Amino acid sequence: MPELPEVETTRRGLAPHLLGRRVAGVTLRRPDLRWPIPAEIAALLPGERILDIRRRAKYLLLDTAPGSALLHLGMSGSLRVLPVSTPVSAHDHVDLALDSGAVLRFNDPRRFGCLLWQPAGSTHELLQQLGPEPLGSDFDGDYLFERSRGRSASIKTFLMDQAIVVGVGNIYAAESLFRAGIAPARQAGRVSRERYGRLAEAVKDILDHAIRRGGTTLRDFISPDGAPGYFEQELFVYGREGEACRNCGRRLLDSRLGNRATAWCANCQR
Ligand SMILES: [Zn+2]
Repeated sequence: MPELPEVETTRRGLAPHLLGRRVAGVTLRRPDLRWPIPAEIAALLPGERILDIRRRAKYLLLDTAPGSALLHLGMSGSLRVLPVSTPVSAHDHVDLALDSGAVLRFNDPRRFGCLLWQPAGSTHELLQQLGPEPLGSDFDGDYLFERSRGRSASIKTFLMDQAIVVGVGNIYAAESLFRAGIAPARQAGRVSRERYGRLAEAVKDILDHAIRRGGTTLRDFISPDGAPGYFEQELFVYGREGEACRNCGRRLLDSRLGNRATAWCANCQR
């Protein structure tokens, strides 16, 4: 599943091809993805100039004067910029033709992705309840400390709550907690300000590293499954249940938290 770093790398990869271009036409090969594609996409986008391409959580927004196309890659979506003559293949659901002669093509075999419309000056309901961006300046240890007081949920579940902070999926939560030395099942409300400071730094460092790595292998990573293969050999705990801790050599444990598999080291994480 594309995580925040893959979405951000996609944004950076697409920007030079899209910014300032006009939409020449819209082709919808089906009426819906996860949800129906609203009529505004085909009615309002043609002729409009793409003024910006932004990311909020794992959503991409293509801004035009009347509003923004709101895209989510879901489980299996990918976006490519291709010559307009490129033959359509299976699961190519949407094309935005550009005045450059290229086409932005959205492929999504499992159709958990979406293409929605946000009128200019409004915020789509899907974006209204989201917490701050993890790489933004309003996300830090003090913020996590304040938000966590009185919370009995595990710190891992807390960190993956999109109302607390967006885009910290299972991989990045597990790796950040290991880096910060915090046991994933520890109650969020009982972790000190100082330890939250280390955790916020770990989240930022790990996401930033993944984005920069993704940026060097963009061609691979906008592969249809969006798998972040470049990151696998660098994982300390995620997916390594039963293997040796890369720090201390002890066997990594396997806990289920919030119904998600969670590998961690009982020696390095307290
Ligand atoms: Zn260890």
